[in-house]
Amino acid sequence: MCRVSRREMLLGGAALLGVAASESKAKPITSEKTAPATHPAVEVGKVDQLSDGIYFHEGNIKIGHCNNGWIIFEDYVLVIDANFPSGAQEIIPKIKALTDKPIRFAFDTHHHGDHAYGNQVWVENGAVPVAHTGVVDEMKKYETGYYGGAPGRWENEAKSREDVRGSKLKPPSVLFPREMIFDDGKHRVELRYLGVGHTHGDAYAWLPKEKILFTGDACVNGPYNFVGDGNIEKWIATIDEAKKLGAKIICPGHGERGAETVLNDQQKYFRSLREEVRKLIKAKKSPEQIRDSSEQVKTALKADASIARYAEGDALAHIEKVYEEMTGKKLPASQKASREARDLHAVAHGRQSDFVMDRRHHHGHS
Ligand SMILES: [Zn+2]
Repeated sequence: MCRVSRREMLLGGAALLGVAASESKAKPITSEKTAPATHPAVEVGKVDQLSDGIYFHEGNIKIGHCNNGWIIFEDYVLVIDANFPSGAQEIIPKIKALTDKPIRFAFDTHHHGDHAYGNQVWVENGAVPVAHTGVVDEMKKYETGYYGGAPGRWENEAKSREDVRGSKLKPPSVLFPREMIFDDGKHRVELRYLGVGHTHGDAYAWLPKEKILFTGDACVNGPYNFVGDGNIEKWIATIDEAKKLGAKIICPGHGERGAETVLNDQQKYFRSLREEVRKLIKAKKSPEQIRDSSEQVKTALKADASIARYAEGDALAHIEKVYEEMTGKKLPASQKASREARDLHAVAHGRQSDFVMDRRHHHGHS
């Protein structure tokens, strides 16, 4: 593992977050029609009320936390995403400050640690983890330690995260194959599987009355796309399905919430990325040349203001994935690229506790 490159990426990501934050003031959520990104004036870690009984909470990505949502029904609370154990611990008091209703369900949008490793914490607080069946299928692939094999992702994560070490993997036990509906007459939440994307088990939470869509990492808002467990070509088609819902508010898995444009931008980033890689293949570039074109691809993508914020991450890992999907072959840099992708995912999901400590030390808890 290369500490220097991880640090560089971390610093790059932090710088970008700063840019995104400073741009945000010009684009309030009410005038988002043509804006490339929409930015509500809500800070990370602040409870963001979207409607009566419906909340969004942007997690602190520096410590790996994903975004959360929760809906207060007549008799219970449904939470969207379990987060890491420390993320769950952070928002439970925030929910309890708003309602005495019991937290009954924690919906995992997908199997990744920053969305599902907090399940045990929710169970200890009276909730049941709920997910699309694909989440358990994915866990069976990657959580080999839990399923009786060699140490898997949980055990790896536990090396660097104290909250993971102090908890245990709890796969979701209430599963739905396509759809699950929560409806008490006042609030309605439809948990829906729309196709392969960020993983093979992504599901969305759709609130048809308020036209709010919680996407998990199937849609992020910024340089947080990890493509290792999914399929980019299918992802684009799945976003078409999500767009058909007609959401007005998008609550992404990471980054600020925004309007429907966020879904468009996420999809356009992948479309443009594929176009750029296709051009290189058509121009008969060698795999080595394609591998070495990542800066050029990144520059081309960043020229489009609506998707520039997605191109700040590890373009090489994204190019590698597209190349593999298009040709069935890996780029020669694939080992390096996938290692960096893992590192970047770690960055995006806050797994570099050494760096987090570093940042806190130098920059406080900002
Ligand atoms: Zn994820």
